[in-house]
Amino acid sequence: MAEVHWRELKREVVDSGLCTGCAACVMACPRDVLGYGDDYFPVQIGEGMAHDQCVIGDRGCDICTRACPRFRDWESDLDEALFGRVRERDEVYGQVRSILLVRATDAGVAEVGQDGGLVSALLVWGLQTGRIDGALSSVIVDGGRGPFDAEPALVTTREQVLATAGSRYTYSANPLAMAQAEEEKLKQLALVGMSCQASINGSLPARKVNKYDRKIALTIGLLCSKTFTYEGQKQVLADHDIDITDVVKINIKGRYQVWTGDGGYHEIPLKLFHPHTREGCKLCPDFAAQHADISTGGIGADDNWTLTLIRTARGEEWMKGLIDAGLIEARPGEDDQVAMSLLTKLSTISRKRWPGDALPTRAGLPGLLPIVT
Ligand SMILES: Cc1cc2nc3c(=O)[nH]c(=O)nc-3n(C[C@H](O)[C@H](O)[C@H](O)COP(=O)(O)OP(=O)(O)OC[C@H]3O[C@@H](n4cnc5c(N)ncnc54)[C@H](O)[C@@H]3O)c2cc1C
Repeated sequence: MAEVHWRELKREVVDSGLCTGCAACVMACPRDVLGYGDDYFPVQIGEGMAHDQCVIGDRGCDICTRACPRFRDWESDLDEALFGRVRERDEVYGQVRSILLVRATDAGVAEVGQDGGLVSALLVWGLQTGRIDGALSSVIVDGGRGPFDAEPALVTTREQVLATAGSRYTYSANPLAMAQAEEEKLKQLALVGMSCQASINGSLPARKVNKYDRKIALTIGLLCSKTFTYEGQKQVLADHDIDITDVVKINIKGRYQVWTGDGGYHEIPLKLFHPHTREGCKLCPDFAAQHADISTGGIGADDNWTLTLIRTARGEEWMKGLIDAGLIEARPGEDDQVAMSLLTKLSTISRKRWPGDALPTRAGLPGLLPIVT
């Protein structure tokens, strides 16, 4: 019998509110005991079992707890697996090799990118050079709900990458696209995901979930404070006389920016959206996608540049490949002091969300490594 399995994962992570809904456990579950609910949380879907029971777990399977990037000593386990050491107290946005501001030189990519188009440039280059044969990403759900409602999608061509570029501020558990990648027998994949999902990059090697660790060639994290519900965004937009179906782009830069199909531009105070925060984001302490190979965001003084944190050797290798191929323009992150101070500030704010009564970590602290505030 496994010492820990779905029963512990459910009690310690899902029921305690620490679960972000990243779907790593669902992706890794070898027997389809776990499914994914409309509320963005994992559920037990096996027949004839109690909601916290897993007969496969009773026979020795603990893979869901191992894949989970929030289970027990997650932060130090993942730090050590990826960086060979636990973070220092002042590494509030995690461990980095370098920080750059980047934008794509290919006009087709730059045009559709949310910020500098780096994520799309990486995916296109990876596909074209054979480094990956697909990417676990997200796509807008086709149904007239505007650029909001995203769901996981496998992309395998430049056209698909460009068609799925940009940011949706509803949640999309991109690791779920792994099922389609497996059906199509793809071997090397990039994972694009918000901070919580990007931490899978650390949990897979840390706890030896080898089948999926081998498949993920690069993890690109999206800096993220939170996601909002579709209905909540619709309501706030309606309160400002904006029909959600007229919206063509949204961005969040301290305020909620909206572009409509008739060429209109609107700004709405971000605080109006906070009551509509998705449940799984409320205790998430990771703004900066601290366990990605490359983390990307749009904060800073200049629009149309991607703030890029290069964290691992393979992240560095991919970035060098793009620079050498002339596909991106890059300058030092320190060029933009607004971006650098926001990075520290927003990372610190998110870390304070972690509850003090969460299970102690190996370091004897309440669930999370300490920070300098
Ligand atoms: C919900 C959310 C919140 C964010 N919050 C912040 C923030 O607070 N501060 C900040 O600096 N940056 C934030 N970002 C990151 C930022 O919006 C850009 O994604 C990032 O700067 C990369 O820009 P790009 O032009 O290089 O990416 P692009 O080339 O436009 O590629 C973006 C990639 O993200 C994927 N994607 C889009 N929406 C989702 C989604 N909902 N779920 C999963 N994948 C998705 C796309 O499919 C695409 O692969 C957030 C992103 C998201 C999705």
